[in-house]
Amino acid sequence: MSRLISYDPLTRSAIGDVALTEAAQLPELLRQARLAQTAWAVLTLAQRQQQLRLAYQCLIPLQDDLAKLISREMGKDLRRAGYEVGGTIHSAAYLTAEVGAALASELIGPDTQIQYRPLGVVALISPWNYPLAMANNLLIPALMAGNSVILKPSEETPLVAQKFVDALNTVLPAGLLQIAHGDEKIGQALVQADINMIAFTGSMAAGKHIMANAAAGLKRLVMELGGNDPMIVMADADVDAAARFAVASSFENAGQMCTSTERIYVDAGIARQFEERVLAYARQYRVGPWDQPGVNIGPVVNPRQHQHVLQQLQDARAKGAQFLLGSDDYVLPYIQPTVVTGLTREMQLEQEETFGPVVAISHFQHIQEAIQRANESDYGLGAVVFGGAGAPEVAQQLEAGMVGINQGVGGAGGAPWVGAKHSGYGFHGSAAGHRQFAQVRVLSQ
Ligand code: NAD
Repeated sequence: MSRLISYDPLTRSAIGDVALTEAAQLPELLRQARLAQTAWAVLTLAQRQQQLRLAYQCLIPLQDDLAKLISREMGKDLRRAGYEVGGTIHSAAYLTAEVGAALASELIGPDTQIQYRPLGVVALISPWNYPLAMANNLLIPALMAGNSVILKPSEETPLVAQKFVDALNTVLPAGLLQIAHGDEKIGQALVQADINMIAFTGSMAAGKHIMANAAAGLKRLVMELGGNDPMIVMADADVDAAARFAVASSFENAGQMCTSTERIYVDAGIARQFEERVLAYARQYRVGPWDQPGVNIGPVVNPRQHQHVLQQLQDARAKGAQFLLGSDDYVLPYIQPTVVTGLTREMQLEQEETFGPVVAISHFQHIQEAIQRANESDYGLGAVVFGGAGAPEVAQQLEAGMVGINQGVGGAGGAPWVGAKHSGYGFHGSAAGHRQFAQVRVLSQ
């Protein structure tokens, strides 16, 4: 049987492997998934919640091992990987309760009830940048709704996914949660297989492909896609707070975050002061291996992604950008903290998702110019405005699913995680998001 090898992004040496799933194996996976789903669907929400909570307890003794595996497979520092594992374990308590409340039947009149019924088998396809959290966010609502799941994790992080699934499966009934390993080929085969829903987190390009492939079967889709988040810094912004946020948001997870700040439009009147503060914060970042204390930017996940970031930086330099920090000629496996100014519409850095530790700045004369540039994108995941009394009015004009005023996006726990335009289709989180994993049924008697 063919193997899928997982590579350490730091050394490119193999750290482990798993069995590659062939498309010919999918019918058997589906048969088991349907069998398990039929039994799971008759349980009450409270019973499903209880089993899931028990299953997630099996992750507790594995907490440190899972964190190390995340760091080894995709390069993020151990502290961040630890938060990801901790958050996943913690989610079993509150997220199962939240989904349970959202999916409880409701009486809306003396003879009419709204029910939230299982859909069947959910294909859950996930990315590598938060390999545990991104799978988990969609797994809990999918299972709580009474579905079974076939998880297709990223080919960059198969070991984390396998360890996670193996641990949960010591408690969950056989066949309820299965795994299909491989790259986009097995992803495509899964999308085309006899499943009922696709819950996807990944790039916009893959999302469009999945939508086209799912069309023939009119399969239910929830897709959380890429972003190219703008940040606007108004003349009356708290410059230090804006600069601190800009750097933290651009460099988080080595810039490999869907809602990282990708392009910054700053009022020309405060631009010099803003750039000085950005540089002061950016110089505090340390690049290195995941297990070295003080390191907060790890290696880039793979050579293709490294080349993607370099290509954007080289394009920006060729089109006139100035490098205030860093360069465009980094060698594998790192991209050093980079600050670029003179960003223009023509640059790939402005038009495309970068997914690297890059602060990209442009100066504006009039706020309408900044709003227009912020909105000139197919992406619409997050957007941020830093400013005084006029900031809410600017925020209202931004075309994004999540907008932060003088803070990051996302809001309080229980808010939906949602992209506008081509950054998403459907969404998760909140009662409305949880219900997308269920079939709504109206029962009148
Ligand atoms: P990707 O789209 O390349 O891959 C994601 C998953 O989809 C992988 O498992 C991959 O094998 C699979 N896949 C790829 N093409 C497919 C196809 N045609 N059919 C079926 N499956 C396919 O994304 P990635 O590089 O793993 O992750 C980074 C991307 O994910 C970025 O664009 C980032 O913004 C996005 N992302 C979005 C969110 C969000 O919540 N909106 C969260 C995290 C990451």
